[in-house]
Amino acid sequence: MPHVRAKHRQTATLREWQQKLRAIYPNKHMSPDYIMTHIYTKCSIIGKEIIRDRRALKLNDAIIGYFAWIMSMCSHFEIEIDEAFVGRFPEMCPYCLFQTCQCDSYGAEYHDAVTKRPPAEQERMEQLEQAYTVLIRSEISLPWFVRTISKIYPSNRTLLKRTGHTYVVAKFLEEGGELHRAYSGFMQKRGHKDAIATEVADLSAWVASCWDLDSEGFDIDGQMALRFRDGCPICKSKPCECPRYAITPGEEELILQIEEGLRALREAKVGDPIEIDKALAETSEARSRGQHVPGESWFRRASDIVIKLQKVSGTAVEVIKTARNIQLALEMLHTMIGS
Ligand SMILES: [Zn+2]
Ligand SMILES: [Zn+2]
Repeated sequence: MPHVRAKHRQTATLREWQQKLRAIYPNKHMSPDYIMTHIYTKCSIIGKEIIRDRRALKLNDAIIGYFAWIMSMCSHFEIEIDEAFVGRFPEMCPYCLFQTCQCDSYGAEYHDAVTKRPPAEQERMEQLEQAYTVLIRSEISLPWFVRTISKIYPSNRTLLKRTGHTYVVAKFLEEGGELHRAYSGFMQKRGHKDAIATEVADLSAWVASCWDLDSEGFDIDGQMALRFRDGCPICKSKPCECPRYAITPGEEELILQIEEGLRALREAKVGDPIEIDKALAETSEARSRGQHVPGESWFRRASDIVIKLQKVSGTAVEVIKTARNIQLALEMLHTMIGS
């Protein structure tokens, strides 16, 4: 009989993790704001643990949780997390383009000069593009990300010693805010999806630094595997069946609110009664088919009813309020289903 070796688990790639987590947490029904509350909660626990208690196990748990939620955010916007990470940190600092960041020695103006690079910089820009192409074809994993960030920014260690860990918490606030601004801009069609990917990478880089400096040498991929071995670590199901955490209304609640509003309009004898009945019929039809969100035509019909109503002069204040609430619920729902 051949010698049986202990089964060696292979490090999963970031792409594999994103797929696995998508199966555990199919988050299509969650708004990005809802996902963001989870990301922020994880950052606050990381901050608390590194400032006060410094218990590696709790800290590690929060960091793993953070990466799971940030992958959810990426999945929501159909961003590949490995592309986001490599695009921002192709084993070089995105500002000074050195493999070990030199930003400090060049001063802040250097950041501003990024767009007007001298010819020597052009060469490094090309290197950067090459590095990206090589890396994106290779196996990008979480340990790779932690290693890369610590190689580019060895100064983080000194920085943390000099300024204390409160600095990291301040960075979480700053980067978290930037991520929120990036996806809000994208949803309101003012910004590009690439900005979300950049902010995902920037916030994650700080979390990766925390792992590097405080995790007491645990293997991040091994800890992920342990945590998600049986699906969701809380309810042990796949997909997760945990109750929702925040108060952001879900799709079903929003549809109920819209239906309630439409019924109120019909009772008040305002708006087109035929159109209102059609819209209400569409929601119950969708429900009977097991889909709780009706189709695009329902969205158009419901908002038409409201818009026409708002144009009629002398409409009672109560009716205007109801119409406004319907409109808000419609907008939220639209954002949530990611159309
Ligand atoms: Zn730099
Ligand atoms: Zn669960």
